[in-house]
Amino acid sequence: MTEGALEVAGLAYAYDGALAVRNVSFTVEPGEIVALLGANGAGKSTTVKMLAGVLRPQHGTIRFGGRDITGAPSHVVVRQGITLVPEGRLVFPQMTVAENLRLGAHTRERSRVPTLMDRAFDLFPRLAERRGQLAGSMSGGEQQMLAIARGLMAEPRLIILDEPSLGLMPKVTQELFRLIATINRDGLSVLLVEQNLHQSLRIAHRGHVLEKGEVVMAGTGQELLADDYVRRAFLGR
Ligand code: ATP
Repeated sequence: MTEGALEVAGLAYAYDGALAVRNVSFTVEPGEIVALLGANGAGKSTTVKMLAGVLRPQHGTIRFGGRDITGAPSHVVVRQGITLVPEGRLVFPQMTVAENLRLGAHTRERSRVPTLMDRAFDLFPRLAERRGQLAGSMSGGEQQMLAIARGLMAEPRLIILDEPSLGLMPKVTQELFRLIATINRDGLSVLLVEQNLHQSLRIAHRGHVLEKGEVVMAGTGQELLADDYVRRAFLGR
């Protein structure tokens, strides 16, 4: 078993009888960026909530680093090395940048926090300049950077980003994707959940397309970008 690989097999979840995820299987190997793509309602968020221990799968298994974590609660999942940055950049608006970051490290030894904080500020210099600013007063792009930086404070082996580009201007999105590629080059695995096909596949090693709760297509970024079905489903959106 590969150290740090995520293996998802046959996941299913229904809300009050309405199937949101019917059969989702994929893997993320250590050091990979894997994109999970799909339109609104395809089941992307439901899938990542199961991976992060927010929802309990009704079928299927989740293994990480060879360990079965199916149905494990979120605090256990975080300790295993998986961190979810949820959709909607849920930073604490009335707390400062530094306070938000510190919260991200609640599973780490307290003595480790200054090192982690320095690392976050190296990676996100804009947050360093604004460490004393209330998170709620920052721009959407800055709040997204903060949400990711806070996720990194848990020192994950795999970070799951749920629609990080949602609502951001194209230029900010570009900067964000560059940053995601940078944190990946430092060795972190990334599951990138997106509707933004082009930008995601440019940095992802592989992608999976989700439709009505099922993986309907998988391949490398180049393969997916060249595929007729993917073009029809996504281009001109
Ligand atoms: P989006 O990009 O809009 O977030 P998504 O691909 O992440 O879409 P999900 O949020 O997983 O999709 O939703 C999949 C299906 O499950 C949709 O039909 C949605 O309406 C339904 N759903 C999601 N959350 C709930 C909930 N809490 N209760 C009932 N149905 C839900």
